[in-house]
Amino acid sequence: MVAGDHDPFGARRPLPLPVASADAAGHPVAWWPGVWQLWWSRAAGANVLRDAARLRFDALVAHARRHSPLLRELYCNAGATPIPRELPVTRKRDLMERFDDWVTDAAVRRSGIDALLADPSRVGQRYLDRYVVWQSSGTSGDCGIFVQDDRALEVYDALIAVQMSAGRLASHCFAGLIKGGRAALIAATAEHFASIVSWQRACRAMPRLAARSFSIAVPVPELVAQLNAFGPAYLATYPAMLQVLADERRAGRLRVYPSLVWAGGEALAPSARAALEHAWGCPVVNEYGASECMSIAFGCADDWLHVNGDWVLVEAVDADYRPVRPGEPSHTVLVTNLANHVQPIIRYDLGDSVTVNPERCRCGNPLPAIRVEGRRDDVLEVRAADGGAVALAPFALTDVVEQAIHTHRFQLVQVEVDRLLLRIGGGDPRERGAAFRLASDALVRYLEGQGAPSVAIELDVLAPQFDAKSGKLRQVLREPKAVARERSRSRVVPRRPSRYAH
Ligand SMILES: [Zn+2]
Repeated sequence: MVAGDHDPFGARRPLPLPVASADAAGHPVAWWPGVWQLWWSRAAGANVLRDAARLRFDALVAHARRHSPLLRELYCNAGATPIPRELPVTRKRDLMERFDDWVTDAAVRRSGIDALLADPSRVGQRYLDRYVVWQSSGTSGDCGIFVQDDRALEVYDALIAVQMSAGRLASHCFAGLIKGGRAALIAATAEHFASIVSWQRACRAMPRLAARSFSIAVPVPELVAQLNAFGPAYLATYPAMLQVLADERRAGRLRVYPSLVWAGGEALAPSARAALEHAWGCPVVNEYGASECMSIAFGCADDWLHVNGDWVLVEAVDADYRPVRPGEPSHTVLVTNLANHVQPIIRYDLGDSVTVNPERCRCGNPLPAIRVEGRRDDVLEVRAADGGAVALAPFALTDVVEQAIHTHRFQLVQVEVDRLLLRIGGGDPRERGAAFRLASDALVRYLEGQGAPSVAIELDVLAPQFDAKSGKLRQVLREPKAVARERSRSRVVPRRPSRYAH
């Protein structure tokens, strides 16, 4: 459900049970989030879907009040069965500061989770034998930790399965099976991010699955060789990496012919998706998800993202958290994940700007549709050793820096074809200097591996700059042309602008 200028649930009214049975915990909606249930409820129409969401919301809030000390405190002034707008907005920083009070299982403790997350060999392992944990890549400058219960994981699986088995994608899924069914994920594999954790979980659950993950941190020529040897029929990665690999394919170096390509982790503009589909010769599936809620919306052939409104509430709001009209870009988006009870995400400020489709989507899907202006890091083109250009995927660059200095609070800005500035957060100059040396050493090694050894890296005196519109931290970006022009003028005298540290 999407809230535009009205409440996501509309008027209160009697609630027919959309599914057959009550769940074990006694909630009126059955919690068997299987594919059949999703098909059934979606085919039954918008009213049934809205009722299902409403019942799930009530159950989630009741559970949060009973078991989360933090949310009980936050909701003390709300009525017995509040509608979403009656509850306060939550933000990652506030919630993370009181993580142990946020979760609804007292056995879940930050200390135990930190120990799990500190060990790269435990990516995808269960925590307390009943949860899966991942961390966010810190797109808003702070790392988040998200614990998932089995119900949530089943819902995420079912949502993906429903999308992949419907419409035009079904035949491409089948064609992929005929090609051998090998599936490749290219991601940051050494950290506990949602993509790789989910991947490892699927691989453990289905050991016969021909699936392999590839590190985004390896040099592109090596990655190309690995992919050529594996020959995936399905390929999943970030849009920027798809762009880099599409160039490799065009150049004849990458020889893989997937039946289906999946793009996630970054916003994908319609024009960019069309270009990728042309380059790959197969559908490029666009999914909008976040660490807070794995599957928020799914792209259609008309380039809208249809919100999984039976399991996710999406509220497009302005800077004061008031609803914006459909058709207007929001300042931010509030997300409620109806599937996960162990760490409730309720009216959570995700930071993305979304625009709700004011009309029914031409594709015929009745689920509400949005477009997202989310995190959009740039692909950097730097000078190669032979004078040509090397494209660097932003996730690969952020992975290199994060591995080196263990923080997400940095920003890499390309100011010239052979010059990058690194902005590092934190006030202590000595610590920043030490972090810069570690990060720049790692970047130099990475750039050498990519065939771009002459790119200079400098420490910027500026702290990482948050995007004025979205409030998010874009970690990898090209300097806007106007700023670059100004810089080139100011560089005549003196040679080096004084705001740079050395
Ligand atoms: Zn559509």
